[in-house]
Amino acid sequence: DRALVWFRRDLRVDDQAALYRALTGARQVFCAFVLDRDILDVLPRADRRVEFILGALQVLDEELRARGGALIVRLGSATDEIPRLAAELGVQAVFCNHDDEPQALARDALVAQRLAGLGVALHSFKDHIVFERRELMTAVGGPYGVFTPYKNAWLRKLDAFYLGSYPVERHAAALAPSPLAHGVPTLQDIGFLPAGLSAFVGQGSRGAEALLADFLERIDQYHARRDFPATKGPSYLSVHLRFGTVSIRRLARLAHERMQGGERGAEAWLSELIWRDFYHQLMHHHPRAMTAAFRPEYDAIQWETGEQADALFAAWCAGRTGFPLVDAAMRQLRQTGYMHNRLRMVTASFLCKDLGLDWRRGEAWFAEQLLDFDLAANNGGWQWASSSGCDAQPWFRIFNPTTQSEKFDAEGRFIRRYCPELAGLDAKAIHAPWERAPLAMPGMDYPQPVVNHALARERTLARYAVVKKRA
Ligand code: FAD
Repeated sequence: DRALVWFRRDLRVDDQAALYRALTGARQVFCAFVLDRDILDVLPRADRRVEFILGALQVLDEELRARGGALIVRLGSATDEIPRLAAELGVQAVFCNHDDEPQALARDALVAQRLAGLGVALHSFKDHIVFERRELMTAVGGPYGVFTPYKNAWLRKLDAFYLGSYPVERHAAALAPSPLAHGVPTLQDIGFLPAGLSAFVGQGSRGAEALLADFLERIDQYHARRDFPATKGPSYLSVHLRFGTVSIRRLARLAHERMQGGERGAEAWLSELIWRDFYHQLMHHHPRAMTAAFRPEYDAIQWETGEQADALFAAWCAGRTGFPLVDAAMRQLRQTGYMHNRLRMVTASFLCKDLGLDWRRGEAWFAEQLLDFDLAANNGGWQWASSSGCDAQPWFRIFNPTTQSEKFDAEGRFIRRYCPELAGLDAKAIHAPWERAPLAMPGMDYPQPVVNHALARERTLARYAVVKKRA
């Protein structure tokens, strides 16, 4: 009997749930990936993520070939291509891993229906996160809405079973090559242009391996360094977690073991991996919150609209707000596809609470620009910043962009990297150049602040008062 493994956000051979299940259940296993036109057609022609995916597929194909298989890559709509491939290959079952984004669930339901029409079963498994869907519920059987109790329950439930890896290697003999596997297309083959993906990110699972090795050298310092964007503090593994070029079970296992050995850095890092699970289960229980405020009373907020609001939004996207840390962060995003976590919080708060713009506008910009864009985490992060989310920042807490800058980029090292025009300012002036170094500014190509923070803060408190009335 034959099976097909449909790869999606799990682009690796190591510890891969669906691949393991197929290999242990069938005698011949084929592997495929669909470059989905439904997703690709709406993207700009140069997109770093497409570049990343092709690189990851290249490594995946090499790894499969080294074990006697090969990757079939199809360009088309997954809902057509998977049933077509199943028929061409004569398989009895298709194996894949859960993807809980609402659009992916709808796609998978359609694929399952079409496969059923051919007498082929679609089997789907947990692979992307540690605890999913209804695996972790409160004592009264509801989903968790606050992070800390969720995290405590997560740690309590964890045991070797949940972090065990799937021994794919032991069963690799069932991998079968296919005359349909023609290698991985180039960007040009699929009508895309190079987008300048940074070499730092690395290629597919090989890149993840290199970043992980580097991070393990400094994970013990994670808790102390993670908040300072000029410092190499975090793991930079987010894009690899997003596309499954590294196994979450393996990462959580490494962190958990070190945490049990008393390492504070590993403990703090594991907590971030738990946030990732938290937002995923939230998406499962509250798909409505992927487009509207998690707390419905926040949908009553009147955001700024019109020409002036559009100009403010454009200045934010371009990194020209006149607030150096915000601008440096927005330029980092645009130039590299990455933004440091502290800066995601600062820039998101700035959009909602200084510019008075709807968080969904910022969310959409991040979704377009982030290499690690993930619906659950991005939406969770934005709703945290706008205070409309589950366990979010309280609405009356408003980041001061200048204070954040002084605190987290005290010497202005990060600012200088992305706003070179300000490089000559000293460590005090660089956080508020127009205010602190007015004589140096005329003639410099750097904007005046687009808002006055103190006034914006008052406007925001008034704007958010509708929430207080309704709550
Ligand atoms: P590390 O600090 O090394 O963390 C390890 C991993 O934990 C990350 O790779 C990520 O998978 C997970 N993680 C860390 N923080 C969070 C968090 N707050 N929520 C969920 N998972 C987390 N993360 C994304 O992966 N995709 C997004 O689209 C995304 N959008 C965000 C938008 C906003 C407004 C905010 C405030 C945060 C967002 N995050 C997102 C979370 C976080 O900023 C990134 O995961 C992190 O900066 C990635 O860098 P890293 O891999 O070096 O992180």
